[in-house]
Amino acid sequence: MPDDKSNSWEARAAAHTLYGFTDLPTVAARGTVVLTGGHGPYVTDVHGRDYLDANSGLWNMVAGFDPPGLIAAAQEAYGRFPGYHAFFGRMSDRTVELSEKLIAVSPFADGRVFYTNSGSEANDTLVKMLWFLNAQEGRPERRKILTRVNGYHGVTVVSASMTGKPYNSVFGLPLPGFVHLTCPHYWREGKEGESEAAFTARMAAELEEVIAREGAETIAAFVAEPVMGAGGVIPPSEGYFEAVLPILRKHGIAVISDEVICGLGRTGRAWGCETYGFVPDAIISSKALTAGLFPMGAVILGPELADRLHRASEAVEEFPHGFTASGHPVGCAIALKAIETILEGADGAPPLIDGVHRLTPGFEAGLARLAEHPHIGEWRGKGLMGALEAVQDKATKTPFPGHLSVSERIANACTDAGLICRPLGQAVVLCPPFILTEAQMDEMFGKLERALETVF
Ligand code: PLP
Repeated sequence: MPDDKSNSWEARAAAHTLYGFTDLPTVAARGTVVLTGGHGPYVTDVHGRDYLDANSGLWNMVAGFDPPGLIAAAQEAYGRFPGYHAFFGRMSDRTVELSEKLIAVSPFADGRVFYTNSGSEANDTLVKMLWFLNAQEGRPERRKILTRVNGYHGVTVVSASMTGKPYNSVFGLPLPGFVHLTCPHYWREGKEGESEAAFTARMAAELEEVIAREGAETIAAFVAEPVMGAGGVIPPSEGYFEAVLPILRKHGIAVISDEVICGLGRTGRAWGCETYGFVPDAIISSKALTAGLFPMGAVILGPELADRLHRASEAVEEFPHGFTASGHPVGCAIALKAIETILEGADGAPPLIDGVHRLTPGFEAGLARLAEHPHIGEWRGKGLMGALEAVQDKATKTPFPGHLSVSERIANACTDAGLICRPLGQAVVLCPPFILTEAQMDEMFGKLERALETVF
């Protein structure tokens, strides 16, 4: 730490940068961790200290912080065609190739892709597409969007309305017409004596009731993450999608899989919907799409929605929507390389998704071992995303009280030990890069275990 605190990186960070999603009293007390770079799964701060980033940045740096093939692809793309849009009858050749690739690796036989800069914008885009095409097809009242409590879909006005988190009430959100169903988290939401099968049946019955109450003809879509991520890594209860999908289909409600976190390998299959055995009408992708090396999101429409949107657009000449950097050629080149790296293997290396398969058993065993701690109520996860839920009382599942949540105290102790993991509600979340070695996984769990010892 430099002697002159007023001119330190920490003080300078606090002076002129606004913080989002940051506990400000914690930052005031502890200072900001200012980073200069990274290598493998580690990031390095201005003092030369390494942290194992068990969150892959923000779930996105699945190939680590210095992936040579991806960096080379980015450099080559900047040298070739450093920027363009995808409108007015023009788009880059890389954009054409990426759309072909995304449809080829999607669960869809055919389809079309629309590009954004982020996952939030992709969700907004999807909703505008549905509003637009339903209106063009003579059903302007079919506008409501069903999501779930604890589901996270972004921060723009529409995607924040889709998000089922109470903090959005400070913005006066959700907007009318965004309806949140119960979170299908059996451990937390299951009633005393209720079996998991009965809980899932209750979730399905609730969906039927909500559709009857709201009117099926007013509901455009059900949007769900296969595994909730920012809600605290919450896999659905057993049989959840099998139970709700037929109900949605029966009522003509579009099924959208928000795969911003789950997509491209995180759950062990290319898409989370494949892990849970369903084919949605559209997929929302971002994060691993560029392995975190470029801000990009995509709405991948399956054949039916793609055709309907195309016809509705032709009827009024255009779909009046898009972002300056939609289909950016550098982003598309990076995404092409990222998909190849993750799913197919690039530059003679095996596909990164093999790492997810290789690491998952040890990852689950590590979480299960730490869940034996008297203050860990539950471990949960799928593939390479997992969480430990802290409780004051294991038997009654009573959470800890207080402003600075216990998960934040655990995460702070981890940071002190050189491990970055994310506090989400009362849970501590882990979603390491796919390139982690077994030794690095041991380091991750070892540091987390010591952090638990420090806090309790
Ligand atoms: N959807 C899901 C499932 C997410 O996890 C996120 C971000 O974490 C988003 C949407 C929003 O993406 P972005 O932060 O790129 O806007």
